[in-house]
Amino acid sequence: MLDSLKRALGLDPNERALRRYRQRVVRINELEAALRSLNDEELAGRYDALRKQVLEGTPEDEILEDVFAVVREVAVRTLGMRHFDVQLMGGMALSEGKIAEMKTGEGKTLVATLAVVLGAASGKGVHVVTVNDYLAKRDAEWMGPIYRFLGLSVGVLYPYMPQEERLEAYRADVTYGTNSEFGFDYLRDNMAVHPSQLVQRGHAFAIVDEVDSILIDEARTPLIISGPSEDATEPYVVADRAARKLQKGADFEIDEKERNLALTEEGIARAEQILGHAGLFSDWQHSEMAHKLVQALKAIHLFQRDVHYVVKDGEIVIVDEFTGRLMFGRRYSDGLHQAIEAKERVRIGRENQTLATITLQNYFRMYRKLAGMTGTAATEAEEFKEIYGLPVIVLPTNRPLVREDFSDAIFRTKREKFLAAAEEVAECHAKGQPVLVGTTSIENSEVMSKLLKARKIPHEVLNAKYHEKEAQIVAQAGRFGAVTVATNMAGRGTDIVLGGNPEFLARDEARLRGVDPVADPESFAVIREEMVAQCAAEREKVLAAGGLHILGTERHESRRIDNQLRGRGGRQGDPGTSRFYLALEDDLLRLFGSERIQGIMEKLGMEEGEAIEHSLLTKAIENAQRKVEQYHFDIRRQLLMYDNVMNQQREAVYGERRSILAAEDGIVEHAWEIVEDTLANIIDTAFPEGDAEPDTNAAAVRLKAVFGPGAETFIEGVASRAEALDARDKLARHLRERFDEKVKQLGGNMAADLFRFVVLHVLDSRWKEHLLGMDELRRGIGLRAIGQKDPLLEYQFESYNLFQEMLGRVRESVAELVFRVSVVAEGAAPGGGRSGSVRPGAVTPVPVLLGASREETPGSGGERVPLRKGERVGRNDPCPCGSGKKYKHCCGRVS
Ligand code: ADP
Ligand code: MG
Repeated sequence: MLDSLKRALGLDPNERALRRYRQRVVRINELEAALRSLNDEELAGRYDALRKQVLEGTPEDEILEDVFAVVREVAVRTLGMRHFDVQLMGGMALSEGKIAEMKTGEGKTLVATLAVVLGAASGKGVHVVTVNDYLAKRDAEWMGPIYRFLGLSVGVLYPYMPQEERLEAYRADVTYGTNSEFGFDYLRDNMAVHPSQLVQRGHAFAIVDEVDSILIDEARTPLIISGPSEDATEPYVVADRAARKLQKGADFEIDEKERNLALTEEGIARAEQILGHAGLFSDWQHSEMAHKLVQALKAIHLFQRDVHYVVKDGEIVIVDEFTGRLMFGRRYSDGLHQAIEAKERVRIGRENQTLATITLQNYFRMYRKLAGMTGTAATEAEEFKEIYGLPVIVLPTNRPLVREDFSDAIFRTKREKFLAAAEEVAECHAKGQPVLVGTTSIENSEVMSKLLKARKIPHEVLNAKYHEKEAQIVAQAGRFGAVTVATNMAGRGTDIVLGGNPEFLARDEARLRGVDPVADPESFAVIREEMVAQCAAEREKVLAAGGLHILGTERHESRRIDNQLRGRGGRQGDPGTSRFYLALEDDLLRLFGSERIQGIMEKLGMEEGEAIEHSLLTKAIENAQRKVEQYHFDIRRQLLMYDNVMNQQREAVYGERRSILAAEDGIVEHAWEIVEDTLANIIDTAFPEGDAEPDTNAAAVRLKAVFGPGAETFIEGVASRAEALDARDKLARHLRERFDEKVKQLGGNMAADLFRFVVLHVLDSRWKEHLLGMDELRRGIGLRAIGQKDPLLEYQFESYNLFQEMLGRVRESVAELVFRVSVVAEGAAPGGGRSGSVRPGAVTPVPVLLGASREETPGSGGERVPLRKGERVGRNDPCPCGSGKKYKHCCGRVS
């Protein structure tokens, strides 16, 4: 009501934006004829001139129309595609840092080029973020000709790429890659110990494709780089065994809705008895075991194999519950992953210690400008606005949407539902209408597949299991009589063209005929033409059969995911139909369906095997979904509020790291300042201002511990603050002499490199400990929530204290090590030293520190080298950091 009123009054912000965009489209269209008459060089020259203007300070927005007009003309010449007017409008939304909601098949890949080229004018690098590596590569190659025509370079990120290439990809004007590649590179950059290891050059502008998948669905699991800790794996097995003996109901209760679980009083008593620990849940010492037990119970009762995870090659691989994709390399946190490993009796990965972590929310919020595109954003507009400050602009389709969406068909049982769904597939198949069957899990895909096999209907099953082939299969899902069963959105990003996708077919055909498209483009062109003709003919048949039919076998908790499934049909004005099949036994209806649905059902009456279809029901189900969506949003918001606390600390630490990496000579003075600070701090603590009692003894102990024996003699007999300050200055002068001596002994460059190592190493290991402490704090805070306190406030308060303590310890360790550090001449790091790209799970090379026993990093593999004091590293010697490179090419590089 309100919305239509707003629209009528011209107040709807979406309408207003569109009106503004349309006016700009008119101006862009006016430029077309003139650009068409230019030759290629002149056309590219236009863009160069516009770039120059931006570098001289013209705001990007002022040249938007000119740039868009140039890009459109270039696209026509290079790709044979002319941006539709609505695509220009989508490009404007992106350029304004908004989310462009454009339906599937509207050509968002091409839309992005407009904003990319405009954004690249400033030379700061544009990142285009995709949902998987296949799409990153495809889109970069597909759109590459436009960029290269204009003299812009393109890079693509892929997993495990060599460091040199990665650096190159980031230096390019445009970089395509997945969210995890970008995010992990950021984290790795912040674990670098030498400037040469940095790959990213800032976060100027990112365009996120399938933005809802990335910023909402994937944002529920943070990116974590971890290394194994010393933690033993055996307790997980013990916990698993104990958990199996506990009874559901009596010993613990499950809240399915919240996906949570709690032990009862009896359960606690029984667990204590089984494990032979009294006070398992009350005694701090056993809290680790208690925690593992609860995780084991969750693993057994809340996490189902082939639904939440699969076991692949002896490893537990998480299944993304929205997309059904396998999330390789991700692990559940908090010991849950190990608990599942114990449950499935596979090798238990050692409890991983977090070395670096960031939520996707906080990664993407670092970009100066962020934009996104997707077919389904409007339902989550509130979240995009609140979390990312991203408004959603809904763009009209290029051609009117004619797909017919039928009301949901609701059955009593899942069995009846699947049988009826299979019947419908059979009917469509008989008349040649292609069907895409969407499921919510691998398990359901298999149920459908069995039913189809029984009916002798040939079909393809698309699970996350066959990831590599997804794109090829989905591309042909629109062929005459094709039946494709896919978990939600498997193969997303690939267009379902009615009658088949000639591009893909041409490539297959070329392979069959032994034609190499690159080496022999003429023969390939012939093949392509054949395929285009074949597909066009087939398309007519498919159109006559009614276009693509989308059949959903369950409603997802989120309407957005259902919309994505529906959106795969009826693209670009194609005919098509869609229907969802539901059962009262489905989780959504069972757990969240209000009495309302039950009520309606009763009123309408229901027979065995019969479905009920009613628009009232469809509405009621949507309401249930809305409730669940809100609930999930609240959880994500909560997660983010906690991460925000750490985010400030992370920014502080990473900022410090970056300035240390950037500091060339300044680092020596910086190290000295830390020494001075530490000294001042020790004195201030022991001899506080005001009336408090001074503690000479405490100061003596700490001075000795930090600066070595002898330092304590400076405050012998000191009783007042005034005397202490005097002693402090004397000691400072003494330390400065030792410090200068040290620097001289090491040599200027060497001192700078070593001190940089010391500071970074100390900072990193303390930060790591801090992350661990924060995890524990968070776990503990959860328990405290039972009291009257606001857990978030408590968390903020305590984590601030932890952070301050950490900074104090960093300063002291650095002050201490600065005087002890030294290097060896011979003896390169034995093996194990790694250079190049540090992958998640790997550990940063650790500098060699003398007397650094307290700095031993768990998991650093004991790569320490025996040291001899006072010797220098020759420029041609292997670098002491263990990189395996010569010192002069590594840490001793003079740049
Ligand atoms: P989306 O990401 O919006 O779902 P895609 O970028 O995958 O859509 O494009 C869908 C199809 O539309 C592609 O096959 C592409 O070639 C085609 N297409 C996009 N824009 C145009 C255009 N301006 N002219 C002709 N074809 C286009
Ligand atoms: Mg796409």
